Formats: sequence, structure tokens, C-alpha cells
Amino acid sequence: MDEPVRDLVVRGCDVLVEPGDLREQVDLVLAGERVAAVGVGAAGVGGSAAGAGARELDGRGLLAIPGLVNAHTHSPENCLRGVGEGLGLEPWLMTMFGAGGDLDAEAHEVTVLAGAAEMLRNGTTSVIDHLWMTPPSPRALDAALRAYAASGMRATVAPLMEDRDVTDQLAAQLGLDVSAGLVTALPEALGTTELLAVLRHAFETWHGAEDGRLRILAGPGGVQWASDELLLGSAELAARHGGGVHIHLLETTVQAAACRAAFGRSGLQRLADLGLVGPGLSLPHSVWIEAADVETIAAGGATVVHNPAANTRLGSGRAPIAALLRAGAHVALGTDGSASSDNQSVWDAMKLAALIHNDADADVWVGSAEVLRMATTGGVRVMARGGGGAAGATADGLGTLRPGAPADFALLDRRVSGLAGAFALEPSLVLSEDGRAVRHVFVAGRQLVADGRCLTIDEADVNGRLRELAQRRARDADPLPAAVARAVGQMRALRQALAERGP
Ligand SMILES: [Zn+2]
Repeated sequence: MDEPVRDLVVRGCDVLVEPGDLREQVDLVLAGERVAAVGVGAAGVGGSAAGAGARELDGRGLLAIPGLVNAHTHSPENCLRGVGEGLGLEPWLMTMFGAGGDLDAEAHEVTVLAGAAEMLRNGTTSVIDHLWMTPPSPRALDAALRAYAASGMRATVAPLMEDRDVTDQLAAQLGLDVSAGLVTALPEALGTTELLAVLRHAFETWHGAEDGRLRILAGPGGVQWASDELLLGSAELAARHGGGVHIHLLETTVQAAACRAAFGRSGLQRLADLGLVGPGLSLPHSVWIEAADVETIAAGGATVVHNPAANTRLGSGRAPIAALLRAGAHVALGTDGSASSDNQSVWDAMKLAALIHNDADADVWVGSAEVLRMATTGGVRVMARGGGGAAGATADGLGTLRPGAPADFALLDRRVSGLAGAFALEPSLVLSEDGRAVRHVFVAGRQLVADGRCLTIDEADVNGRLRELAQRRARDADPLPAAVARAVGQMRALRQALAERGP
């Protein structure tokens, strides 16, 4: 592998430093892992600002943008694309886990590398991987993190953990049996103590590794899927290590009703009562939060991670993103796992986020600058780089191309279809571009994609192995094993009964 390029001048390019700050025909100068300067003649005569001997890249016709952040995904689902079409989340989840089977260390390596390559080539430089494992173990976790280390990508891994499922209380109200469809009925379910031991291993082994490029978050699976002991124990470990907490929140009407039935309050209020709502908390989905929850999230400085593709694919509903933005809440963007999205394109997420909330009659619009911030600095907040505190999440400028910021960026060709016809740049980035213009990608000053080719991952090899994983699973799941089919049937009946009763 080539030595990392640490000093570079991209000469004569355009630079979107952050939304609203476009500099045209300037030099982008890197020193070490950071942006040194952006401006006309910033490289100085002979590139002196970057140090003698700096590498030069002809930037004419290219546009540098901050690297995109995919703030919520599940890497194992890269071999489960297209699964469970036409199902809502609860029966889909049972189908997906049933088809997924057990993932060994090699499967984690392959699914991470395939997703990383897909994201990097699209200009996505950071990912938050809510990593499910069957079951959670140091061996599976280490395999995933070793793969992220090799990819060069900036990765934050939240090991997904579940030790309780209160959906049976809602089912009992409705006179239904969902015993086969609970997440605690999955064969890989572990107890609270064992789960927290895996999380402790993750923090102690990987948090801050690779010069801070790799981070760990606590990752309880969902408010209705975790005991107080798991939530508080996870948060305590995260606080001790300067990390945060990443937890699915109220993705569906079933989850909202299950929380009401079991806790007598909203799922978000349960987290607030446990003292978990703060700047280090990130909340994928938040589709069925209540009006008071919007205020609690905004006041607490927590971040909602919007996943419009998965929410639409599963028919879950539309998160109140416009209301959250109006309340001053932080919002990030995710693809969610490829079993529900069904790719790892932050471009798709941006386009959907910019489209599905607009309402001309109510004069409600989610603008391209807001969407670009969700996909950059919004996602950086989810990494909880300032620990649980508010300061530091973006203090060093990650997510922008300001001088001093870590040099995570993509260079897009403005001359190809999509961007070539851009009358207004930012709306065109969000609505016209789909990643095809990405030519070169850098993370922490190191080039990971050159001329559209990933330098750190052998994509032909990885995708060959990914195809084997997917084909084996498709064969084993046709037909679905009887226990899985029973779980799917119970969860379909639950969704239907709740829809008839009303939430
Ligand atoms: Zn998810």
C-alpha cells in the first residue's frame, strides 16, 4: 500500500467550506491531517504554505466538499439487501434476522469492507455503525473494527444490545401472543452483564484507536428493548470513556404504543427520566416522538438521526424534521442498514430529506443548506467527540473545510452530468448529484479514493465474498424456517391489531 500523502495542494479548485461559504478557483492546502489554508494563492509561491515538496493535484473543474457522514447504519445488512419487501418494521425485523443467520468474524469483515468501499467512493468519509452481532462478542466486534481500521474511513461503532422486550405488554392489551417475535426470543439473546462486558471491551480496546479515527458509542437497541440496568450501565461506561449513547427511538406506531403500555409515558420521556438526554445522545428515527419530546430533545442538545429511505421503505412514517429544526434541535442523516434502505448512499438520504417534508400550503420547507449540515456537522455531533458535553462536538471544525479542520473531504467533478447543469450549487448537490461526480476522497489528509477507485479495499474481491454471503442466506431462507415464519406472523397480527385499535 502507498505511504499516506500528508502534504498536498489542490490547485485552482472550488471549495464549499461549509453551506453558504463557497470559494471559487482557490487553493486547498493540507498540512498533515488538517486543512492548512483555503484561498487565492494560499499555496504560496512553490507551495510554501504546505511545505517544500508538497504533492500537487490539479483542481481545475473540481469542487471540494466536506466528507459526508452516514450517521446511522448496520453493516451486517450489506449482505441482506432487498429482504422482506412489503413488510412493516416488526415482521420485517423477524424476517431479516431469520434470513441473516449467524455472522462469523469473516462475515463481519466482508460486510464492513463492502459498505466502507461503497460509502468512500460516494464521498462519505465517516460512518456510525450500530453494529448488530449474533450474538455480541469481542471476536465479532474486533473483526468489524479491524476492517474499519484497514479501510481508512472514520468509523464510530455502537455495539447493538438488547436485554428486554416490553412489546409483549402491548400484545397482552390487544389479546395477542407475540412470544416468538420478541427480540429476547432470538437465539442469540444475552444477559445484561454479558452485554456490558462486551461494551467494556469495545471501549477499552478501540475507543480513540487509529489516531482517534475509530470511536465507540454505547448502542442499546431501542427504548422498548432495553432494561434500566442496560441503559444506565451503558451510559455509565460511555461517560467514563468520553463517548455517547446511540439508541433507536420510536421508529413505529407499535414501538410508541409499546412504550406507552409498559412505561406509561413516551419512550423519550423514559430516557429523560433516566438522565440520558444530553449532547452525547443520538436518536435514530424519532418518527413517533410527541410534541413535548421535540422540546426535550432540543433543550437537551441531543441529536435526531433522520433515516428517510428506511422509514419510507418500511412504511414507518415521517419524522417531524421540520418541527425539530424549528425548535433548534440537532439533526443528522443516516441511510440505516442496507436491508431496509437498500444501499449506503447519503446522497439518496439527502434528496429524500429535502423532499418529503415540504408543504407549500403550510409554507414548510427543508432547505438544501440545512440538509447539507445534517449530512456533515450534524453527523459529526453523533460521534460525541466532545464526550457527553456540548463543547467539542465540532470544535475542531470536522464536517467543514475551515483551516484547522481535519482534512476529510471529497473532490467532485463539476463537469459531469448532474453538477454540470447546476444553476444553484447547494440545491444541485442535494437534489441532482448522486455520487457519480466523486473523483477523489480524503480522510485525515490521506487519499482513500483516486479517480473513483478505492485505494484501501480490493472491491472485486470483497464484493465476490459479499455475493457468496448473500446467496447462501437466500438459499437457507427459502422457505423461511418454521420458527421465523411464526414470529413474522405474530408481528404482522400485532401491527394489524394496533392499526385497527388506533395508537
Ligand atoms: Zn437502525
